[in-house]
Amino acid sequence: MKPARAMSRLGTETAFEVLARARALEAQGREIVHLEIGEPDFDTPSNIVEAGGTALQQGYTHYSPSAGIPELREAIAEYTSKTRGVEVSPEQVVVTPGGKPIMFFSILALVEEGDEVLYPNPGFPIYESMINFVGAKAVPLPLQEEREFRFDVSELADKVSPRTKMIIINTPQNPTGSVLTKDDLEVIAQVADEHDLVVLSDEIYERILYEGQHVSFLSLPGMQKRTILLNGFSKTYAMTGWRLGYGVMPEELAAHITRLMTNSNSCTATFTQWAGVEALRGSQDASYKMVAEFKRRRDVIVPGLNAIKGIRCVEPKGAFYVFPNIEGTGMNERQFADYLMEEAGVAVLAGTSFGQYGRGYIRLSYANSVENIEKALSSIEAAVKKL
Ligand code: PLP
Repeated sequence: MKPARAMSRLGTETAFEVLARARALEAQGREIVHLEIGEPDFDTPSNIVEAGGTALQQGYTHYSPSAGIPELREAIAEYTSKTRGVEVSPEQVVVTPGGKPIMFFSILALVEEGDEVLYPNPGFPIYESMINFVGAKAVPLPLQEEREFRFDVSELADKVSPRTKMIIINTPQNPTGSVLTKDDLEVIAQVADEHDLVVLSDEIYERILYEGQHVSFLSLPGMQKRTILLNGFSKTYAMTGWRLGYGVMPEELAAHITRLMTNSNSCTATFTQWAGVEALRGSQDASYKMVAEFKRRRDVIVPGLNAIKGIRCVEPKGAFYVFPNIEGTGMNERQFADYLMEEAGVAVLAGTSFGQYGRGYIRLSYANSVENIEKALSSIEAAVKKL
């Protein structure tokens, strides 16, 4: 079968390929520390698991409305209104299997062939993949180590052309852990207003923040009409496998995104959505405990990496990733990631898995125990010494 031409433009997420390679080595008896995959290593909090189980027992095993069950849309609208300080109605909410489909659907619904989309680079690989897939031009916003991996907002206006349709922002950010400041967001808002742009604001790591308060693009005056907020349960509540996320957007767009849901998934799994209601309305203690533990791990991995000759690591403010520069090892990021897997038994991702501006860097996820992080650090140090 001959694939459609657009398929040659569709990218992927390397994390899954590296995981497969690590698993293959494990099958041969090698021990591998997994620092490649971006998911919390904690179990989903028990109150949420119970709510999902109860929903199954109660027979919530049928289709639900494409945009989600009213109770969850209501809970999301309430949560978003409260945390963003703006009025959000349930009609503005579309529930999806994970936050990822919001990228897919927003780009499909809004971006035409020949349009341009600005996006962070290095960034979550699916942004670039989807922009290319629809035949649009992906215009990178380079993230710079000197700016703690925030992009230079003063250059933003220069990157906008008459064909620019959308800006994608992500804060806290994958893969660098950077956080955009309120001043940054205000400049973005100004540029978006001036050029009538849509902003896809990926805030899936909103709670995994180690200092200050999360500032949402949706909170900025006048931005509700041009913002799609991408959010979800995977990271905040360790629910990656439940597949539960959502978008908050103007009501007219929600109708289109809902139609894309009807045409693809029909709906998000119904019992999963009931677990989501409990996640938002129940105790938040387990979630905050996870964040405290992530901070403890960050405070082990950052100094540990900086102590290794040839490696230099900025301290991230959020998410659970570090993005150290490894040029001092004399290897490029792909060679070094391969070398760490083979020599140190540590699985990491090359920075270029997140775009061309990831050259010279690797990404490590510290969603792993302090014990494993320490083990990985000493193996990396030993491997680097051999170079
Ligand atoms: N956005 C970012 C920046 C991510 O890193 C991820 C997952 O790794 C997602 C969105 C999607 O998460 P999910 O589809 O599991 O909700």
